Amino acid sequence: MKVLFVSTEVQPFIKTGGLADVSYALPKALQAQGVDVRIIMPKYGDISENYTSKLTQLASFGVSVGWRNQYCGLQYLNYEGLPVYFVDNEYYFKRPGCYGYYDDGERFAFFCRAVMESVCHMEDFYPDVIHCNDWQTGLIPLYLRDVYYERPEFKRAGCMYTIHNLKYQGVFAPSVLEDLLGLNMGYYTDEKLKFHDGISFMKAGIVFADKVTTVSETYAQEIQTSYYGEGLDGLLQEKAFKLYGVTNGLDYSINNPLKDPHLVQNYSARSIKRKTANKLALQNRLGLPENPDVPVVAMVTRLVRQKGLDLVTCVMEDILKMNLQFVILGSGDSEYSDFFEYYASAYPGKIAAYIGFDEGLASQVYAGADLFLMPSMFEPCGLSQLISMAYGTVPVVRETGGLRDTVVAYNEYTGEGNGFSFANFNAHEMLHTLEYAISKYEDKEVWDGIVSQAMKTKFDWPAQAKRYIALYKEMCC
Ligand code: ADP
Repeated sequence: MKVLFVSTEVQPFIKTGGLADVSYALPKALQAQGVDVRIIMPKYGDISENYTSKLTQLASFGVSVGWRNQYCGLQYLNYEGLPVYFVDNEYYFKRPGCYGYYDDGERFAFFCRAVMESVCHMEDFYPDVIHCNDWQTGLIPLYLRDVYYERPEFKRAGCMYTIHNLKYQGVFAPSVLEDLLGLNMGYYTDEKLKFHDGISFMKAGIVFADKVTTVSETYAQEIQTSYYGEGLDGLLQEKAFKLYGVTNGLDYSINNPLKDPHLVQNYSARSIKRKTANKLALQNRLGLPENPDVPVVAMVTRLVRQKGLDLVTCVMEDILKMNLQFVILGSGDSEYSDFFEYYASAYPGKIAAYIGFDEGLASQVYAGADLFLMPSMFEPCGLSQLISMAYGTVPVVRETGGLRDTVVAYNEYTGEGNGFSFANFNAHEMLHTLEYAISKYEDKEVWDGIVSQAMKTKFDWPAQAKRYIALYKEMCC
């Protein structure tokens, strides 16, 4: 089976969130099960020269973006056995970061067309499945069905579209249909791309793909309701027959405290005592008093509303009254970074805030903390809680999306559970759950049991990849 995996961020080349982790780990797991999988992504300016210097140029050709004809280079890298193609156009992609530009609509319209054209330049590779991810790739299912369907390369191809986050939809003015997408106004209808007064790339993916998946079972249900549906719940109910939830896995070869090169002391469940050295090192690095006994509560997160930061800011004073140290590593909206930086300066021994994106420090936080707070408003899957569990750091989460599917609340009668959870998006419910968790931290025997169950929790990619393969098989002829 041949699968072209299309993503706009892939670890280790570039990452803004969990999509990058998935876009490396899932193809790797598919390949291990015999799938001929190839990744294709934009060649961003921020990709390290360690990789770009090793690229081979395969072809160059023109790609139409509405009335424009833009240069496209197709470059190739074999990364640890995984074939990765890079779409090269410096005008669109030689910029810092991945997203957030005024012309993102044009950039990713180009990317979608460029992917279709690139397939025609990949020797001997007629995909059985094109697997697209998030709004940036949403036009590909449409192009496959309505524009490229007669090309021999695509005759057999089925199309899967995975929603990693329904919040980000790629909505643009209707005029882009003709100006950028090379389509006509016939697509500006409720059945096709129309979304309020604009057109939505996300909707294109949902409407035109053969199968739509999202990254947890619970999120697949939630997005069919108005609270979580971001205005697309009606459409998703209608398309429920082709909508599936497949919970993300975690790559335990990378997220492994026994091998992680960023830690001062590697450890496993069997040598959990060594975790303490990481706690002391974290406290030292962040200027907190070095104390092995005080519980360290941490967050590693994008600083956006989705992550439930409003609950934390609402009861910050109460949190800091507890016997704990609070650590936050995050980047994003300034309303939150300003808030946490202020508190870090006002309560220097209690809270440390590191504003930025730092993967090494993230590992040190996962290893050095005792509890990991993730009170998300919604959470398609969430990898951070899986990483924290792998590092023996007990998650405290809101029961939503993938958090609900992966964290089992501690039950003091049976002793079962790998974390703590609360149901409603309510600051005091979160606070009380955190207080309860801290009270259990103080009972060493109970705590060790919860840590051990957290470390035993496994959401392996091989098992999840099997589910994708079963869905792929239903799509190819
Ligand atoms: P999302 O994709 O919504 O951001 P996930 O929990 O699925 O959330 O994945 C987030 C990933 O990004 C995790 O691997 C997490 O460790 C990482 N991450 C988030 N913020 C930072 C940061 N400031 N520095 C380093 N890594 C981060």
